[in-house]
Amino acid sequence: MIIGKHRGTCATIDLGAIKHNLKIERQRMEPGQELFAVVKADAYSHGLIPVAVAAQEAGVDGFCVAVIDEAVELRENGITKPILILGASPETEAPYMAKFNLSTAVSDLHFLQTAQPLLAAQNLKLKVHLALDTGMGRIGFRDQETIKTAIEFMNQHQAQFEFEGIFTHFSTADSADDSYFKKQLNKFHELMEVVSKRPRYVHVANSAASIWHKQCGGNMIRLGIGMYGLNPSGKEVQLPHDVALKPAFELTSHIVEVKQVHPGDSISYGTTYTATKDEWIGTVPMGYADGWLRRMQGSTVLVDGQECEIVGRICMDQFMIRLPHEVPLGTKVTLIGENGRKQKTAQDAADYAGTIHYEILCSIGQRVPRFYV
Ligand code: PLP
Repeated sequence: MIIGKHRGTCATIDLGAIKHNLKIERQRMEPGQELFAVVKADAYSHGLIPVAVAAQEAGVDGFCVAVIDEAVELRENGITKPILILGASPETEAPYMAKFNLSTAVSDLHFLQTAQPLLAAQNLKLKVHLALDTGMGRIGFRDQETIKTAIEFMNQHQAQFEFEGIFTHFSTADSADDSYFKKQLNKFHELMEVVSKRPRYVHVANSAASIWHKQCGGNMIRLGIGMYGLNPSGKEVQLPHDVALKPAFELTSHIVEVKQVHPGDSISYGTTYTATKDEWIGTVPMGYADGWLRRMQGSTVLVDGQECEIVGRICMDQFMIRLPHEVPLGTKVTLIGENGRKQKTAQDAADYAGTIHYEILCSIGQRVPRFYV
């Protein structure tokens, strides 16, 4: 992957903000609960290793990722704390995961049955967290009988498996209407009835569940978006005032060309924008290949503390904005963050694009360099 280090477009990640958010979460947690930092998808685009190191410095107890390679990348960069892979992994990779001392979600019996002889052949033991599907409909055991069989199978093959955890994931923990959440929680309790000996970790809470359903228990929090300083519910539900999250992601660029256009002059592909009067137009070196999606045309960025509209189609590597007046080349452009007295948030971009802030952050491409403060 080529990183555009010499282009002037970059994401600045405030590791202090991430540490602050972790500290706040720690203060809110119950005694005995452990805090796992969710750093999948390149730490929600903030950069896997720098974020993991900061989180480790902030005292997290472990990490969650989505895929094996993310976990291995952590291990190869000196992260020794527990790492849980939340997604379903191929059974054939069980020995590979065990070699790196990883914990993995297991969502069906087939995984255990297939992995067992592979692990035995290499004298390896894998840490397992059984995933329970209580209503998310994604991965996991859905009935008591299969859970019982899975636990029995692990007990029969203790040389290959350590039953380390059991968990579920809520689909509406960020919603004001908690009826479906309660249904899932009840289902979790029902499924747990067959677990006679609780494993070390029983966990149900992501950021939203930790904020709005603190009482739902579990002894491990899987903190994702909250650690990056964003409200898990977007605009739908207001955070309580005592959770003072600090966003950690700033996205900036600069003006590389300024020109005056005249009535009738068009901007960008498809001539979707035509000036109706004399206007100052600035070119910004960021495009949809960097994750500022084509549908952001018409939204605004900040220059000198003023909102400037993106005019014309967003190109692969550049877009144009209408400036209030001529500005010097190199003038800072803020897409996410503060500029003057104004602020643009990932939530603003998400609202405009009709999506969620998670997706806005995850869309920012690898070509955009990350700098750390
Ligand atoms: N747990 C699981 C199983 C997840 O899939 C995710 C994220 O998608 C998280 C925890 C973290 O969620 P959040 O970023 O909303 O805290």
